[in-house]
Amino acid sequence: LEKELHGFRDLPAITTDNVRVTLRGNLEMASEFPVSRKHGTEGVGLYRTEFLYLGHNETPSEEEQIEAYREILTEMQPESVTIRTLDCGGDKIVSQLNVHDEANPAMGLRGIRFSLSEGNLFRTQLRAILRASVHGKVRIMFPMISGVVELQRSKRILREVQLELTRDGHAFDPDIEIGIMIETPSAVLLADVLAEQVDFFSIGTNDLIQYCLAVDRGNEHVAYLYEPLHPAILKALQMVCRAANNAGIDVCLCGEMAGEPIYALVLLGLGLHELSMNPGSIPRVKRVIRRLAKSDGEVLLQDLQQLQTAKEVSSHLDRKMRELLPDIF
Ligand code: PEP
Ligand code: MG
Repeated sequence: LEKELHGFRDLPAITTDNVRVTLRGNLEMASEFPVSRKHGTEGVGLYRTEFLYLGHNETPSEEEQIEAYREILTEMQPESVTIRTLDCGGDKIVSQLNVHDEANPAMGLRGIRFSLSEGNLFRTQLRAILRASVHGKVRIMFPMISGVVELQRSKRILREVQLELTRDGHAFDPDIEIGIMIETPSAVLLADVLAEQVDFFSIGTNDLIQYCLAVDRGNEHVAYLYEPLHPAILKALQMVCRAANNAGIDVCLCGEMAGEPIYALVLLGLGLHELSMNPGSIPRVKRVIRRLAKSDGEVLLQDLQQLQTAKEVSSHLDRKMRELLPDIF
């Protein structure tokens, strides 16, 4: 099997009805480059920058960050790298930064809220990302956006930083694309409005499931309720994909769901043509996509919409996948 999977390295993820799906990697450090190369990652759909801030007493300087970003951009040339600005707080505690004692950290000062409350730290990161953009194709992504105001404040700060860099004579890509993570229920409900104001969406199902179903993603006592195939999640995904489609912007899915081959047909049916996952998951997902038709996904999705519980959805999907690919499922 390993040999068969390795054989997919240089083949495109293309469905039997000729839909090309881009499979990108979720990465956070240079030590992951060899694995990513081995599996034929098509650029980085989610570069988590928390790692740069972990385990240091000081926050990383502009120059240190430029170096880290340059390294990953150079590695991924000519593919793009989507750099997510710091997403600390909640389950991602950066001890020197998350100094508040929060009773409910998942709903506390995390993600973009934290960055907006720490203007200097945020500006330094944006300066570094922009200055690194001369080394390859970068996209900037904001985490945990819950409404228009956070997006507009973030974009305003980005514009100020761009002016500052121009004034100081630093080069950067003036057309850098801006996107947001869709991982809060409010962002789903406002997806049509948000889609008019960004270049792309990336759906973070890890958090989206947690917040939509009110189930702590790390709490074993309620883990049985953490259901990616919950009918409410399917509806949410559909709203986001429709809004992105209507606005003509890219939409990627970068939560753990992307890396599970069993979900591939559902994701195709939703109209997702870009998935970002652990590089190690790419060959298995690619193997499945190459044997599925998007049109089958669309029919499947209509059937799933008639069902009322995650268990029913899951059994239906299992049956369908076994029928289509009996040697795999
Ligand atoms: C997500 O929430 O799905 C996601 C990709 O981000 P993280 O897992 O880093 O919160
Ligand atoms: Mg998240």
